[in-house]
Amino acid sequence: MTDLTTAERIRGLIRDVPDFPKPGIVFKDLCPVWGSGDAMAELAVAMSAPYDPAGVHALVGIESRGFLVGTAMSMKMGKGLVLVRKKGKLPGTVVSRSYDLEYGQDTLEVQANALRPGMKVVMVDDLLATGGTMKAAMALVESQGAEIIGVSFVVELGFLEGRKALGDTTCYSLVRY
Ligand code: AMP
Repeated sequence: MTDLTTAERIRGLIRDVPDFPKPGIVFKDLCPVWGSGDAMAELAVAMSAPYDPAGVHALVGIESRGFLVGTAMSMKMGKGLVLVRKKGKLPGTVVSRSYDLEYGQDTLEVQANALRPGMKVVMVDDLLATGGTMKAAMALVESQGAEIIGVSFVVELGFLEGRKALGDTTCYSLVRY
């Protein structure tokens, strides 16, 4: 067990679910990762390692599995977590950003007072596929004047080349397929 790296251990827990949620998609099920206290503790350490907490004001997690990763990193780095949620979930004044899906559109929102100009943030989600979700979330965060110092994922589906959608932003992922 101790001979394996954190990335190898996390990879070993991820389950492929063919044809979910629709035919042709191989869904990466991270529930066994969320379900392991040891894996979550290791994930928090490994995903926080590239960042100097002194240079980060907050983490930004994307609904909903990004909240799980974001919370783990938040506790490790001693930083708060800003929530980027689907339309209609956040109370108070919000700012929104719509983006295209394969079919139709979706909208992400953040509370208007959650970010300030000059704030340095790290954005997190569970998985990078095409990058469309993270690209929209980044535009939302940048529209508030925050500076994105890095973007982190547990899993990257490299063959979909989602990194290209993220421009020059530094991008980290623990497990690549
Ligand atoms: P994308 O915007 O294409 O990068 O998709 C990223 C979002 O969709 C992430 O929040 C993932 O949770 C989810 N997602 C996309 N593809 C998969 C997949 N094959 N397995 C699990 N989740 C996925």
